[in-house]
Amino acid sequence: VKKSGRNSWQFYTTAMQLESEQKHHLYNELVMAIDNNQLTVFYQPIVDAASGRVVSCEALVRWPHEEGWIGPDTFIPIAEERGLINRIDLLVLRSSLQFLNELNTSLERPLALSVNVSPRLLHLRDDDAQEWLRELERETTVRVTIEITERVLVEDSDQTHKILDQLHEAGVQIAIDDFGTGYSGLSYFSRFPVSSVKIDRSFVQDLGVKSTETTLVETILLLASKLNIKVVAEGVETEQQAEFLRLNRCDFLQGYHISKPLSEQDFRDFVTSRA
Ligand code: C2E
Ligand code: CA
Ligand code: CA
Ligand code: CA
Repeated sequence: VKKSGRNSWQFYTTAMQLESEQKHHLYNELVMAIDNNQLTVFYQPIVDAASGRVVSCEALVRWPHEEGWIGPDTFIPIAEERGLINRIDLLVLRSSLQFLNELNTSLERPLALSVNVSPRLLHLRDDDAQEWLRELERETTVRVTIEITERVLVEDSDQTHKILDQLHEAGVQIAIDDFGTGYSGLSYFSRFPVSSVKIDRSFVQDLGVKSTETTLVETILLLASKLNIKVVAEGVETEQQAEFLRLNRCDFLQGYHISKPLSEQDFRDFVTSRA
């Protein structure tokens, strides 16, 4: 027993070391990728549920790496831990604003833009956060929504309040991302100018399959209509899910059933072929 205990302890420390070494390596590579401007942005269409028209898109950061693409779920946590997230959020905002500005000149109906914002950025008041704010406050033709998680609003720091008020004044809309996954109560709706919620993919996936998830989605849609806020369903993968959401008057749909996140060129083609 003793021996196996020691072995497993040894294994444990080695695995931990390896993991932190790998993380450190990834961090160094990420710094270089940012410095060399190698991160890129993909765009996932968001459609009006009733008409099927593309009305907006979500900007999602991508890291093309020599060993294949690395997803944000892998590197965003490292970036948040090591203070790189502000730079990433800033570069995503800059390049997506530029892209949308340009794309919109060729479209009859301009598209809106949603960007993800790390909670870290909204709690800090350093130069990066200021620059990010200025970028959003600048006169632009693109209608911008920032996607934040409930956690940001629940913590409710003076700092967050100030930044969100500033953004609201600048015409930036606020969406609650992964809505329903926090266990946070709903009181923040009365404290913050929330314009929309995004129903988390985990609920959408089980629509029509599991009755609890189905009831939850129905309840979110009812709540949102009473609060007069819009609902985006994310992770819509099947026609059945889309049909259910349309019937229950969900406002917008996003997911593989409509399209995966696309490169600039592919997104442009997608939008123009659908117009
Ligand atoms: P999120 O904001 O919840 O973004 C939605 C994620 O679901 C994206 O993953 C998207 O590719 C994926 N997705 C979309 N439709 C479907 C579907 O029908 N089925 C399935 N299974 N997945 C779908 P992605 O791009 O890997 O991003 C992961 C997370 O990383 C995002 O979750 C967001 O929290 C974060 N993230 C991405 N870009 C940024 C960024 O620029 N800044 C910050 N701070 N976070 C970002
Ligand atoms: Ca999001
Ligand atoms: Ca989400
Ligand atoms: Ca998420």
